[in-house]
Amino acid sequence: MSDMTPLDALRTTFGYPAFRGRQAEVIDRVMAGRHSLAVMPTGAGKSLTYQIPALCREGTGLVISPLIALMHDQVRSAEAAGIRAAALTSADDNREETIRRFRAGDLDLLYVAPERANTESFRRLIADQTLALIAIDEAHCVSEWGHDFRPDYRTIKGLLEVRPDVPRLALTATADQHTRADILAQLGIPDEGLILAGFDRPNISYAIEPRDGITKQLLAFIATQTGPGIVYAQSRNETEKLAVAIATSGRPARAYHAGLEPQIRAAASRAFVSSEDMVMVATIAFGMGIDKPDVRFVAHAGLPKSIEAYYQETGRAGRDGDPAVAQLFWGAEDFSRARRRIESEVEEARRPGERARLNALAGLVEATGCRRAILLRHFGETPPPACGNCDNCLSPPAQVDATEIARKLLSAAFRTEMRFGIGHLIDVLAGKETDKVIGQGHQRLSVFGIASEEELKLVRPVARVLMARDALRADDFGGLSFGPGARPILKGEEAVAVVLPPKRARGSRRSRDAGPEDPMFEALRAKRRDLAREAGVPPYVIFHDAVLRE
Ligand code: ADP
Ligand code: MG
Ligand code: ZN
Repeated sequence: MSDMTPLDALRTTFGYPAFRGRQAEVIDRVMAGRHSLAVMPTGAGKSLTYQIPALCREGTGLVISPLIALMHDQVRSAEAAGIRAAALTSADDNREETIRRFRAGDLDLLYVAPERANTESFRRLIADQTLALIAIDEAHCVSEWGHDFRPDYRTIKGLLEVRPDVPRLALTATADQHTRADILAQLGIPDEGLILAGFDRPNISYAIEPRDGITKQLLAFIATQTGPGIVYAQSRNETEKLAVAIATSGRPARAYHAGLEPQIRAAASRAFVSSEDMVMVATIAFGMGIDKPDVRFVAHAGLPKSIEAYYQETGRAGRDGDPAVAQLFWGAEDFSRARRRIESEVEEARRPGERARLNALAGLVEATGCRRAILLRHFGETPPPACGNCDNCLSPPAQVDATEIARKLLSAAFRTEMRFGIGHLIDVLAGKETDKVIGQGHQRLSVFGIASEEELKLVRPVARVLMARDALRADDFGGLSFGPGARPILKGEEAVAVVLPPKRARGSRRSRDAGPEDPMFEALRAKRRDLAREAGVPPYVIFHDAVLRE
């Protein structure tokens, strides 16, 4: 067995022609007896990086894995490939037999649940056995920084200390920096043992723009896309509204959220998986465990929770490797709402990362440079300076310095006692004597009429940037007040730049095709409601063609 090379094993045992990404590099390190941490996204092929050394090195490969169900699956698929594998879990009845085979050196791979690994008898069992490697799968479970900390994983350290001579390979898809450092420290892996790769999804084209009438924007976007797609909406209610609008525009669409009956959800999933042009409008409840490689686009109708969530959600597009699009529409209110949630959260202390996560998102949506570079850098990879396949690379946005108008807007908010919304502040800056301005006596303020025609055009984009940066905060009624980001701008320590929106035919906002305000749309919607009532299903499960056929 042990004179087989990794490439032989890949070809003969697994039937693949070549290694992917940095698999070969990880395997070479294990073959050389060195400790490593491989951080690669889900689906990158981490399992092979321990299975192959287990076949090619002398002795059994131990694999510590947190999920019993997963472990049994892996034993089955390893056995199907002709690998001698078994599992030791608490739910195991073949214990005696498994231990006998392990002792006799008849196992290539032994999967062990962490609570099994941490016993005196197991430590004795491995003390003088020949081991090819010790793999720690889902290694983020060892860290309290990770999203899935498991106290059992803490005890793996003790097990590793029994066999410092055996190469360790920790594996995870979680690339967060704190978690990474924690895994290295706890599992005794040197910093140079970190191999992080494969986060780039070159076939996905990223585009991000401010929200401005989301239904309209989405319909226009979807009209340019062929193939099936997912739209992530901000609420259950919005999924249903948007699904109706999309279906009515002539594209099959369904809504999906956790509030729907399980059988409706299951039917929607099935319909989507087998469809070639359906749009699934969903909350983030949708997507995990959905196996559909030909999703051509993922659109976000609002800000995702974090860059990690954005990466994961957009990553559901183009898994077949063909070109796919990730389109995000964001609003300044998304940031305000998220920041308010953080503020009001009693357990704020328990979420030290929340603020940092929002700031990272603000950096992504405001960026004028390559979006992909920002994503990859976030995950610890070193990107090329430009990807050529994101909105900013494809048409570099015009950027203007808006520091002066930002200061005027902040001053206007301050002079009006930070109680008014953007519309009123624009009137004040423009020097418009509206009833409200007069009523409040704001025509007497020093900020009245201080903005030029040109500056006034930038006030809304500037407000958006200021809200993303937490320089301005909106209350529940849209009233704008200062956040911690205001000071450095007012003191001249920080500049504000805004991206000019691409010149589009702005005049066509009330377009002639069936939009939500169109009477034809209303008629169709009524028709759909009737059909749905007859069929005893929610309106959005009726396809557009069923409506149009009537
Ligand atoms: P991960 O654990 O990183 O999420 P898996 O180990 O489950 O990923 O692998 C995902 C899929 O990729 C599996 O079906 C696996 O067989 C396949 N795969 C892994 N390496 C290769 C390769 N070099 N060539 C082709 N397919 C591969
Ligand atoms: Mg895996
Ligand atoms: Zn780019």
